[in-house]
Amino acid sequence: MLVECKCNNCPAQLEFESENVGQVIACPTCGMETTLYVPPVPIVPKPAVPAKEMPQANFRDLLGKYVNQKIGVNCKEPKKYHPAELVAVTDEFFSIFVADKSITVHYPYHQIVHVIEAKGGVSTPGFWSSKEYPVVVEVMQLIVYSGAVGIGVSFPI
Ligand SMILES: [Zn+2]
Repeated sequence: MLVECKCNNCPAQLEFESENVGQVIACPTCGMETTLYVPPVPIVPKPAVPAKEMPQANFRDLLGKYVNQKIGVNCKEPKKYHPAELVAVTDEFFSIFVADKSITVHYPYHQIVHVIEAKGGVSTPGFWSSKEYPVVVEVMQLIVYSGAVGIGVSFPI
C-alpha cells in the first residue's frame, strides 16, 4: 500500500510503500535525510449529543396543535373548567386568554397537573363548564399575569 508523509526538512510530500516505513532516505526535493513515517490519522472528536435533542414528547408539541382554539382550563377554580383561548405555546409555558375577564394567563409547564385529550372532545361536568373541549388542561392554582400591564418580564413568544 502506498502511503504519504511529509519530508522532515521541507514541505515535500513523499510517497512510499508502507513496508518501507522507518527507512531513512534522501529527500528528492531538498536532498536532506528524512525518515519515512505514517502520519497519524487525526482523531475527530464526536460531538456529544445534548440531552435536549433526545426525542421525547413534550407539552409544546402536545398543546401546539390547539393554538387558537378554545380549550378547557381550570383557570379560576380547582376542578372547574372554563373556556379559554389557547393563544401561545412556547418552550417554557403556554398562554391562554380568558375572554370574560380579559386577562391572559401564562402557565409554566410544570404547573400542568394533566392534559386530557379525547376523540370528539372532552366533556367536563359542572355548572360552569359542562362543555366539550378539544383538550382540557388541569393546572395547579394559580399564577396570573394580567395582560399587557407592566410586569417588567418579557417572554419570548
Ligand atoms: Zn525534503
